[in-house]
Parts: sequence; C-alpha cells; structure tokens
Amino acid sequence: MHDSLNQTPQTNPADIRLFEAALNASSNGVVITDNLLPDQPIIYCNRAFEQLTGYQRDEIIGHNCRFLQSGDRDQDARTEIREAIRKGKHCQVEIRNYKKNGEMFWNELMISPVKNDHGDITHFIGIQNDISRRKAAENELAKEKEYLEERVVERTRDIEQSEAYQASIIETIRESLVVIDKDMKVLSVNEHFCKFFKLKSKEIIGQELFTIGDRGQWDIPELKNLLLNILPHNNPFEGFELENEFPRIGRKLLVLNARQVMLKGRYQNRILLAIEDITERREIEQRKEDFISIASHEMKTPLTSIKGNIQLLEKKAERNNDTEYMQGFNKASKSIARLERLIYDLLDVSKIQSGKIEFHFTNFDFDQLVAEAVSGVQAATQTHKLNITGSTNIEITGDYGRLEQVLINLLNNAVKYSPAADEVKVHVSKVSDYVKVAITDSGVGIHQRDHKRIFERFYRAEQITEKFPGVGIGLYVSSQIIKEHKGTLWVESEEGKGSVFNFTIPINKR
Ligand code: ADP
Repeated sequence: MHDSLNQTPQTNPADIRLFEAALNASSNGVVITDNLLPDQPIIYCNRAFEQLTGYQRDEIIGHNCRFLQSGDRDQDARTEIREAIRKGKHCQVEIRNYKKNGEMFWNELMISPVKNDHGDITHFIGIQNDISRRKAAENELAKEKEYLEERVVERTRDIEQSEAYQASIIETIRESLVVIDKDMKVLSVNEHFCKFFKLKSKEIIGQELFTIGDRGQWDIPELKNLLLNILPHNNPFEGFELENEFPRIGRKLLVLNARQVMLKGRYQNRILLAIEDITERREIEQRKEDFISIASHEMKTPLTSIKGNIQLLEKKAERNNDTEYMQGFNKASKSIARLERLIYDLLDVSKIQSGKIEFHFTNFDFDQLVAEAVSGVQAATQTHKLNITGSTNIEITGDYGRLEQVLINLLNNAVKYSPAADEVKVHVSKVSDYVKVAITDSGVGIHQRDHKRIFERFYRAEQITEKFPGVGIGLYVSSQIIKEHKGTLWVESEEGKGSVFNFTIPINKR
C-alpha cells in the first residue's frame, strides 16, 4: 500500500490490511489521487480498477486519471469533474472512458474529496462502475421510445387524415345525417341537414330531436316510437316513409333509415339517422304513372272504333269474296289485337299501381283453363308445338280471365324467346294442396342475376332488348295476379339453356 495511506496515525496495520482486502474485494474500481502533489497523480488503485481498465497497477500509479479519457476530451462530464475538484466537492458523472485495448466503456464515476484536520483537501477518492450494458439498454429503450413516438405521430396523422376524409364524404353526401344519443338529443348533423331543413346547427345541436325547428315539426309519434326502440332492442329501421309539413320548406316526402352506431366506448349508444328526400322522385314517378294511365285510356277508345270498323269491313270483304281485302284486313286485325293486348297490359299496370285492379273469383276446372289457354296460343303459333302433359282433375277458386292472362303471357314468352326451337312443354300437376304449372322452353334462357328482376315493371334482360320486341310488363302483371291468388310465380333458367316458368296456386277455396 502507498505510504501516504500508512501515515494516518490512528489506524493500525491490521485495520489497514482489512481495508485493503475490502477494497480489493469490491467490484467497483477504486482509485485515490493525491491532491497535494503536482498533477494530482493516482496513488492507489484496487484490483477491480485494473480489471475494469485493463491496465496494470504499475501503468496506473503516478498517472493523472485523465489517461482514461484517451482522446475523447469533448465531454460535459469533464467540466463537471473539474469544477467539483476545484470546489472540493463530491460529484457523480457518467463519462466515456477507454480501456487499455481502446474499447470504450461508460464509467459511472463518483469523486469524493478527503480533507485533513485543517480542512485542506489532501486526496480524492474515485469509485468507478462500468455501466456500458445499462447504457446500451437505455439507448435501446430510448430508440424504441423514439420509434414508438414516431409511430404514434404517424398513426395520429393517419387518423386525422382519415377523419378529415370521412368528414368530407359526410359533408358532400346528398343525404341528411343526424347523430342522436340515447335521450334523443342531437349530437351532430351534416351540412346537408341544415341546408335542407333551413336550420342553423346551433338551433339543433344539444336539442331533443322531437323539439327542433318550428311548431314541433319533428314531433312525429310514429318516428318517435321507432327511434326509441332502436337502442333497447337493437332494432334498426330502413325505408320508413314519412310525409310531413315542415314550416320552412313545405311538404316533403322523406325516407328514413336509422341504426345504432356499432362502436364501443364513448361512441356507443348513439343512433345514426339518415334522411333522404324523395319528394321530387315520387312526383316524377307519379307523373309517369299518370301518363301511362291516361295514354292507355285515351288509346283504348279510338282503337275500339278501329277494331269494330275493321271487323265490319272484313265481314264485307268475306261476303264479296274479295281475298285481297280479306288478307289485308286479317293482317290489320292481328296488329290491332297486339296493340289491344299492349294497351290492356298498360292499363293493368296502372290499375295495380293504384290498387284498382279487380278480381272476380269463381270455381272452375283447372285443367280446362290450361287447355283453353294453350289452344288459344297454339292457334296463333305456327312455329311451335305446345304440348300439355299431366293433370290435376281439380276445381279451384280463382279469377279465370286473369289466370288465363298469366298462362297466355308465359306461353307467348316461351314461344317468343325460343326462336330456334319448335316445342314448348306445359306440365300440369297437383303438389300437396297446390296446383302447379311448369312451362318449359329451350330458348335463350335468363342469367341468374335477372331471375328476380324480370318480374319488375318494365324490366327486360339486357341482352335481349334489341333482338325481341316487348315492353317488360307481362311478367309483372302475371306475378301480381298470382300473388292475388296467394300463389307464387318463379323461373328456373340458365342463360342459353332455356327456361322453366312455374307457378303454384293453393287449392283451398278462398
Ligand atoms: P317482355 O317480354 O315484353 O319483355 P315480360 O314481362 O313478359 O316482358 O318479360 C320480362 C323479361 O323477362 C323479358 O324481357 C325477358 O328478358 C325475360 N323473359 C321472359 N320470359 C322469358 C323466356 N321464356 N325466356 C327468356 N327470357 C324471358
């Protein structure tokens, strides 16, 4: 041990050996510098210091501690150390030091002054601890934190952008949107709502929906009932038509959809109400309906007169045996019949629309109805043979004329849409308590996507519109007639492979 340590008068040699053993057992590096000698050389180092730095004792003793810093001088910790030494104070710093082999390590360095009886600083004790691993872990952590923070910033930006994007959609939408809470208070509305109802958002937000606007324009019991039912029973509604007088915008026909907002947290228990104004659309539809109805009525009278006169002239030509005139009138009669069918179909459409179509129910033999309809169509068809199979032997209750109309429609279609074929099959059967007719053709067939739509008014499958004449109402009228008989009408078909049109009617008397 260094002399200056042995000089302490109060310590006996046994104690000193004990202290030295203790210091050598420490895992922290310990050095002592002499503050009274020039350049404050190291006068003691323990084993851990040798291990920590890789230097031998003889390379350490007599040196100033700065050799540990190698060339890495530009460190704030150095100023701190210098300052502490100057003021004779304790300090703790983390400083980059270098081992003998040049490897850098982070040194957690504690420096404490030792004073003599006069209060002069005679020594400094330095305790070193290699904290490189901790530093690396801290660095990793800091990097991870930085990365996470960047991700948070990125995500926030994404969310902000997506919110702005969605808000812009909501604002552009030509539908009024309202969000209400469980107490029916309005939380938000889009711009369209304010514009459409001529209300300012401050008149609406926070108000109970049924109280907004003038004279309780939203106080509609039926709507109230529907809305109040949404949250407790998760009972959304769609297509609720509402005709109402709104003081600032007049009478409007609206379609309302509403459902619970399916989000958790602070957005739950909210209702999104979407309001579409269909006033104009309905008016246009109505005008179209009216036009069809008026036009077909107006055409009926002159057509009846033309038909009557042609029949008279046809008879006269027959009497005169004038074959040329007879042929001409015969052709004209056929065209008149087609036109008449079209007009009656159109009249039926408007009657169905206005609910004015009438049915006259009687009891009759079902097989006979089919046979008569088939023979009627057969008489007008040279290209196809219509073959009936099966029978029901049953009397049903129905509107004979209307059911005959359905059969004629289906048979005419089967012939029309199978120009390359020469047969249409008609199968009649009794299935459970129903009578069933299946009309099979081997014609152009119908794509799956159109199987439902062909029963809509004026709908015609796209690929046939140019090749075949027609207006797309026969199946609509037929399906309404079958519906009135509590039966079903449907098609089974594949494009290019022919079609089977089926209907069933319950046998039970009405
Ligand atoms: P229209 O024949 O005047 O177009 P319909 O209401 O009778 O009107 O038929 C609607 C549409 O259904 C037709 O335009 C056609 O696309 C399709 N369709 C009806 N019957 C057949 C059939 N037998 N084969 C193929 N397509 C058919």
